[in-house]
Amino acid sequence: IRYCSLHFRTPAKPEPAPLTDQVLSGYDPELWRALQKEEFELFYQPRIDLRQGEICGAEALIRWRHPEKGLQSPDTFIPQCEASGLIVPMGYWIIQEAGRALPAIQEAGMEGRIGINLSFRQFQDTYLASTIERLLDEHNMSSQAMEFELTETALCNDEEHVRNTIEQLSRRGVEFSLDDFGTGYSSFSLLQKLPITTLKIDKSFVDGIPGNPDDEEIVRAIINLAHNLNKQVIAEGVETRAQLEFLIRHDCDQVQGFFFSRPVPLDQFLTLVSRRQKQSSL
Ligand code: C2E
Ligand code: MG
Ligand code: MG
Ligand code: MG
Repeated sequence: IRYCSLHFRTPAKPEPAPLTDQVLSGYDPELWRALQKEEFELFYQPRIDLRQGEICGAEALIRWRHPEKGLQSPDTFIPQCEASGLIVPMGYWIIQEAGRALPAIQEAGMEGRIGINLSFRQFQDTYLASTIERLLDEHNMSSQAMEFELTETALCNDEEHVRNTIEQLSRRGVEFSLDDFGTGYSSFSLLQKLPITTLKIDKSFVDGIPGNPDDEEIVRAIINLAHNLNKQVIAEGVETRAQLEFLIRHDCDQVQGFFFSRPVPLDQFLTLVSRRQKQSSL
């Protein structure tokens, strides 16, 4: 079944999101209040370059420090934020927050980009590209330090608008990666047309290596596809040395996963970066 994603498929044109629905239903009041009160926090998970053995970037992952329930993972609130549209203002907060953390991260010695997840829902905002550009300007953020992670779902939505958005931002030096690659539907022609620099192999395939012949074949195929299209490839969810060794053997560029580090709060991430700068071995 999972091979489906590698088939050609013409993306269906979605209905435009009716704005009135969003206005009438409003955002979830508790989540809206949490956003106002800055209860959300970005954690950072390092990406490791397999040739240098060094931290070459990070992914920003949102958490909710709920006053009573404690730390909440994104799976418990992101779907709700997408449904109500709150992900749009929240998404801008996330970009600003990563921008605020950037100077300290660079100061600690990290040279790569920070990956920020963009939900398909955020692309329904016509002003996505121009708002991001304005945020970059207002907060003096270097577009060379930012990378946006999209899923195949986002690409399938409204091809032309998504394409314009990606092109407008990449002209400014922002990069784009394709997240959870292999689990959705993407057409090879779109992969080639869009300025996407990186494919992220979904954890579900990485889980099966080494040992599961199908997963091994899929991982190898994605690595080759990426390289043949002149893109970088990252394996997500690397938890064991055996997985790491398989990926090194098959020429994967970067890895991310609990084997190196879980996503951690900013201060711990800074410590991690400065410590690794000194050791720099796998
Ligand atoms: P994602 O973008 O695919 O992020 C990778 C997820 O895999 C993260 O879960 C990360 O903690 C987890 N992960 C990384 N390495 C390992 C590993 O070795 N083992 C295991 N078991 N898990 C690993 P997390 O942080 O819970 O985020 C889940 C999803 O929520 C993300 O998937 C992304 O789709 C969404 N999300 C997270 N932060 C944001 C955000 O700031 N904005 C948006 N729009 N979505 C976000
Ligand atoms: Mg991601
Ligand atoms: Mg992913
Ligand atoms: Mg995911």
